[in-house]
Amino acid sequence: MIKVGVLGLQGAVREHVLSVEACGAEAVVIKRKEQLDEVDGLILPGGESTTMRRLIDKYDFMDSLKQFAQSGKPMFGTCAGLILLAKHIIGYDEPHIGVMDVRVERNSFGRQRESFEADLNIAGVAEDFAAVFIRAPHIVEAGENVEILAKHNDRIVAAREGRFLGCSFHPELTDDHRLTGYFVEMIKESKQLAI
Ligand code: GLN
Repeated sequence: MIKVGVLGLQGAVREHVLSVEACGAEAVVIKRKEQLDEVDGLILPGGESTTMRRLIDKYDFMDSLKQFAQSGKPMFGTCAGLILLAKHIIGYDEPHIGVMDVRVERNSFGRQRESFEADLNIAGVAEDFAAVFIRAPHIVEAGENVEILAKHNDRIVAAREGRFLGCSFHPELTDDHRLTGYFVEMIKESKQLAI
């Protein structure tokens, strides 16, 4: 069975576990860096990227996360997790994991719209995906190898670059598991390529 890790330092961990299980894969909550060896792909959940970064450093996770990203195993960053994956963050000199060729802006939908729901057409995933945005970032610029999967009001809110998938919203907060399912398929494909 496909094993999907969910980084369990902070944020919406439990909901991702349920979503992965609903897609017929096994979920592993990752609390120690050694556990990364056990899984075929990794979800970086939403939460607060600065807090997550502090915990990543505190528990000495950063090198292991970067190695995981180089290993060819897929990674899926949702909301704060997308910020962790991005190579560029507006207003910051350094990225966090810094592997996906996108420039993101944090909290970019305005204070008065801290949280909202929008119907998205996500290429290859769903034409009618009810996406929950919570103090969400968006992708301001994407490199040439990045496939744009969804936009909301002309802003890029979901994208894929090879084995890296990122979205601005929280796909785990509804019972629509199609985006998580898409990620599980990415993991299956990567495993076939690795054989
Ligand atoms: N605003 C958060 C950040 O910048 C992300 C919010 C979320 O993950 N829901 O890290």
